Amino acid sequence: MKINKEMTCIICPNGCRLEVIYNDSLVVKNALCPKGEEYAQSELLNPIRNLTSTVKVNRGLLPLVSVRSSKPVPKGKMFEIIRILKDVELEAPVDFHQTIYKDILGTGADIITTRGVRRADR
Ligand code: SF4
Repeated sequence: MKINKEMTCIICPNGCRLEVIYNDSLVVKNALCPKGEEYAQSELLNPIRNLTSTVKVNRGLLPLVSVRSSKPVPKGKMFEIIRILKDVELEAPVDFHQTIYKDILGTGADIITTRGVRRADR
């Protein structure tokens, strides 16, 4: 299978516009550093993204708390992870960087809170 596409490397602010040719082996042109080839390979074979979402909080000063993945997760698992997080309910108080789900879907990423939420009645 031959693939010929352009993509923008998002690893650093240079934003190199990569020309990616895959035909049994990978050729990446226009990258200013070796990370461009790593990025192109990851995007072609197993694209990953940082995940952010919110989770319900019971008895909190806020009804929701923002969460993120501790590291990027496969793009193909994003919707399934978000569906799982829709059913999660935390009890306030919630701590900053509290782990609410370990190794979600076997991705090796934990889901952690990005802020704390105090209890409403304290
Ligand atoms: S290829 Fe290297 S220099 Fe270019 S955007 Fe990616 S990380 Fe930055």
